[in-house]
Amino acid sequence: MHELSLTQGVIEICESSAGGRRVTAVVLEVGELSSVVPEALEFCFEACSKGTLLEGARLVIERIPAKGKCQDCSNEFPLRSYFNSCPSCAGHQVTIISGEELRVKEMEVD
Ligand SMILES: [Zn+2]
Repeated sequence: MHELSLTQGVIEICESSAGGRRVTAVVLEVGELSSVVPEALEFCFEACSKGTLLEGARLVIERIPAKGKCQDCSNEFPLRSYFNSCPSCAGHQVTIISGEELRVKEMEVD
């Protein structure tokens, strides 16, 4: 499962920056284009955090809307998938500005 290795990575990052203190909450930013299922992430987090500094921590998932920018006309628009074309000029040279992120935004420690 994709979410399992992601969760393990998140836990490692948090543990290494927690300095031995207990982590009480973690805020994750998850882009809409990342193929992560929030429910699966929550499930993995609960399972993987057992016995770590993050055991019992609250997991908050913030969804980041996907946005693209057209290379032809510089229009910025919401993306529904990787293969959206530009709504104003129908161009296909679209750069993804946001929506792919998966990162720890904040965490709370005791
Ligand atoms: Zn365009």
